Amino acid sequence: MRAVSVLPGGELAVVDKPDPTPGEGEVVIAVERCGICGSDLHLKSSGLIGPGAVMGHEFCGRVVDRGAGTDGVAEGDLVSVLPSGRCGVCALCVSGRSELCPAQAMTAIGLGFNDGAYAEFCKAPVRSCYPIPDGMTVEQGALVEPYAVALHAVHRSRVVADPGLKVGVIGAGPIGLLTVAALRGEGATNVVVAERAEMRAELASSMGAASLVSNAGALATAFGGEQPDVIFDCAGSPLTPPLALEAVTAGGEIVLVGVVDIGQTLDMPGLLWIIKQVDVRSSIAYTDEEFGQSVDAVAKGVIDPAVLVSDTRPLAAAQASFDDLAAGRAVKLLLSPALG
Ligand SMILES: [Zn+2]
Ligand SMILES: [Zn+2]
Repeated sequence: MRAVSVLPGGELAVVDKPDPTPGEGEVVIAVERCGICGSDLHLKSSGLIGPGAVMGHEFCGRVVDRGAGTDGVAEGDLVSVLPSGRCGVCALCVSGRSELCPAQAMTAIGLGFNDGAYAEFCKAPVRSCYPIPDGMTVEQGALVEPYAVALHAVHRSRVVADPGLKVGVIGAGPIGLLTVAALRGEGATNVVVAERAEMRAELASSMGAASLVSNAGALATAFGGEQPDVIFDCAGSPLTPPLALEAVTAGGEIVLVGVVDIGQTLDMPGLLWIIKQVDVRSSIAYTDEEFGQSVDAVAKGVIDPAVLVSDTRPLAAAQASFDDLAAGRAVKLLLSPALG
């Protein structure tokens, strides 16, 4: 099969790889769409992805081959895949925090250990496959995973208990935009987005942001002169969390969603943090349950792929697409093996 692999020099290129064969409890999926994630850019530049590895963890496709013990799905089924196999039996899984299951370090698809979906075919455990309802498009199917990330971030916050809170979102990249959509989906209406780039700011308005400011510091006065109760930091930069701490109201909450590079530290003004008594929470991935909720929400139209997806491209365009994303020339790009 054709797959996008990391060459020894670090470039991405289409190579020939053996077709995957399903083991017990596994299926092989013909990839329809696979999104390029901001974390893929971080991962590639980290050097953790070795030569020969295939990335890609935001995907949907059709089941084309099944191993033993996979009666839950049929060949031809369209599925979105939760790309990190959780064990289902550890203390974290049992207590409803499967996003932290330690088994994922070895089971994750497209993050280094197991080949991902920048390829014609990808292997996945059947229990990670979530059937896509009739009428849902393959573009929507590829957005289930990143929307689940945003949904989890919102669930980590006070907004769930009080959707009337004043909410700031820093950064209108894919995760920021999806967080705006998830906030709207959970009933929040008072959402202001801080984004420097005009094109992304416009997308935030289309996603349902009530208003916009051009930088994180301006969130402090964005609500008729009042400070936000909660700020979601989705910028993926170590520079913005300290600005969030300054902008948020005393006793407020900051949720860290954007991913920073390995080795980067956050330089938080310690005295300010203490005297404002701000709760700083982090958010990673989603629970199994939230992935299922994401399928339902995306199927109901919580996000418009036409707003979020800048382009759909062939596998051969993977490296150029990484370059475009890194340079801010696109917001969300999908790869489609059928395009070449
Ligand atoms: Zn991702
Ligand atoms: Zn577990």
